[in-house]
Amino acid sequence: MSGATSRHLGLDLGGTNVKWTIVEHEGDAWQAVARDQVPTRYAAEPEAVPAGIVAQLGEVALTAIADRGPVSSIGIGVPGLYDPVSGRTRFIVNVPGPWAGLPVAGPVAEATGVPAFLINDARAFGLAELRLGAGRGARSMVGLTLGTGVGGVIAVDGRVHLGHDGTAGEIGHQTIDPDGPWCNCGNRGCVEAFARADQICAACGTPSVEEAVRRAREGEPRALRGLRDVGRYLGIGIANMITVISPDRIVLGGGVAAAGELLFAPIREEIARRVTTTSIEDVVLVAAELGTWAGATGAAVHGAERAAGI
Ligand SMILES: [Zn+2]
Repeated sequence: MSGATSRHLGLDLGGTNVKWTIVEHEGDAWQAVARDQVPTRYAAEPEAVPAGIVAQLGEVALTAIADRGPVSSIGIGVPGLYDPVSGRTRFIVNVPGPWAGLPVAGPVAEATGVPAFLINDARAFGLAELRLGAGRGARSMVGLTLGTGVGGVIAVDGRVHLGHDGTAGEIGHQTIDPDGPWCNCGNRGCVEAFARADQICAACGTPSVEEAVRRAREGEPRALRGLRDVGRYLGIGIANMITVISPDRIVLGGGVAAAGELLFAPIREEIARRVTTTSIEDVVLVAAELGTWAGATGAAVHGAERAAGI
C-alpha cells in the first residue's frame, strides 16, 4: 500500500515555551521530521497577553512552514478549554489574560492560509503517544500526564475520545474522596488535588518532586510514604478508568512520571486491589515515549485528522 505523503504542523502553547513539530504522514505511518521552540511572548499588560500570543502562534507557524513546509493542516494544543467549532479558547491555565471567547484557530489559519484546529494539550499528548509512541497498537488507552496538574486522555477503539467539546478524558478531575482537599478546578477530592506536583512536595516534605524522588531512592521514610500515597490515589483513579473502559494500555507521562517504580508500583497494587470486572493481566502499564514534544506532535496529528474529516 502506498499513499500520498503529507506534512502537518503542530503547535503547543505552554506557559514557558511555544513548541512546534512538523510530522509526515503516509497511510498509518507518522513521523516527526522537524521541531523547535521559542519563549512564549508576554505582553507588558496582562490584558494584552492573549492577543500577543495568538499573533506569535501565527508567526511561529510561518517560520515552521518556511523551514519544512508546505503543510496541509495545523493543530494547536492549548492548556485548557476551548470551543472546537469556533476555534476560540474558553479558559486557559497558567497563562494570564482574557482568554474567554478569544479566536485562536481562525487568526492562525488566516496568517498561514492553512486550516487550523484546537485541541487540549493533554489530549494532544495522548494522541501522539497513541499514533507514534507508547500507545501504538493499543485498541483502547488511558493516558495521564503528571506535572503541575494531572492531565488525562482516553482513547477508545484507536481514537482519542474528545467528547462534544474536547473535554473528555479529564481523569485528574474525577472525585476520589468526597471530603478531600480542594482542587484548582473548584471541586474537592479530585485525583489532581492529591497528585499534582505541589501536593507531592507537601506529602514528601520536599521543595521539588525531583528532591522527593531523590530522597525516596535513598530510602527516606517520609518521601517513600508520600510517593506511595500519591501513587495510591493515582491508582484509584486509573482503576476506575479500567473498570469503565477496559483499556489494554495505560500510558504515564509528564515530568513527575520520572519517579518510575516509586509511583508505578503502588499504582499497580491499587489496580490489582480494585479492578474486579476485567482481567488486569491484559492491561499494560507503560511510561510515555515522546517526552516534552508529545503535545506539539499530537496537535499535528489532530490537525491532520480533523482536516481529513476523521
Ligand atoms: Zn479538579
